Amino acid sequence: MTLRQQSSPAPTATSIFSPTSPVPSAVPVPLPDRTADNDSGTASAEDDGSSAVDGDDTTPEDNNCSRDDDDFAQPRLRLKIPDLEHSGAAKFLGAVNAGTLVAESIAKVQRLLYRSPSETHTTAPPTRSVTLVLREMDGVAYTTGSSLDSDHKEIHFSLSYIDGIKPAERLTDEITGVVVHELVHCYQWDAKGTCPGGLIEGIADWVRLNCDLSPPHWKRETSGNWDGGYQHTAYFLQYLEGRYGEGTVRKMNEKLRLHEYEAKPFWVELLGRPVEQLWEDYVKKVADEAPTDDQTSS
Ligand SMILES: [Zn+2]
Repeated sequence: MTLRQQSSPAPTATSIFSPTSPVPSAVPVPLPDRTADNDSGTASAEDDGSSAVDGDDTTPEDNNCSRDDDDFAQPRLRLKIPDLEHSGAAKFLGAVNAGTLVAESIAKVQRLLYRSPSETHTTAPPTRSVTLVLREMDGVAYTTGSSLDSDHKEIHFSLSYIDGIKPAERLTDEITGVVVHELVHCYQWDAKGTCPGGLIEGIADWVRLNCDLSPPHWKRETSGNWDGGYQHTAYFLQYLEGRYGEGTVRKMNEKLRLHEYEAKPFWVELLGRPVEQLWEDYVKKVADEAPTDDQTSS
């Protein structure tokens, strides 16, 4: 759950596949580098719940993750695996379609954060390329901009982490979930660098949650503050989405594009109440529903 600054040591590598479609031409404000994520599903042995493979494709009408005809412009895509002999590399290549994983995940992220290219109330950033680098490293994954141009993103994903995902049935969903989370960092706004890290990470896991890629151990937690980040904040955002309507997180993201973050005006202008009050309401609601949660998780 820690955030750390990255110096992005992109190793020299082997390009497995590349571009799907043209690079968008707009060049507005870039999204600054993001940081490390040790948040996603643990690869621990007690994870044994869901084993479904990417359910998004089976019922495209049922969620916001599916693609349709008016797709967003897609960035150039690359996959680099410097150490193809690593057992994590074999597991990755066996579990997901490396040729489509990133493109399909980007489409899900774009749809949840920006709805459609014709949506006039949101503006997607001009991410021009995404390179997924699978390599030996500590932690789970992090996203960074290229040192020359932050419209070019690199997602570094730990091969040892992939190697440790258990049970094996979790591989596809866990890999896809981590990639979706990191891709949100390639596409979300961050209030010109002033957005609290907990909200940045919360939005990333909110997208993951809404792509039905939440790990089995995720649950609503009401200890601490709203900005604990990751799934802690993601479920709070989900509550706000339910209370204030579909598109609330999209509006939030758009507000993070336009202005620097100041807690009081940000939340009051967006939802009419300070975030502390919204969090209190959420905690109360979760407590009211607790008996049901206990039954399902015991
Ligand atoms: Zn993250």
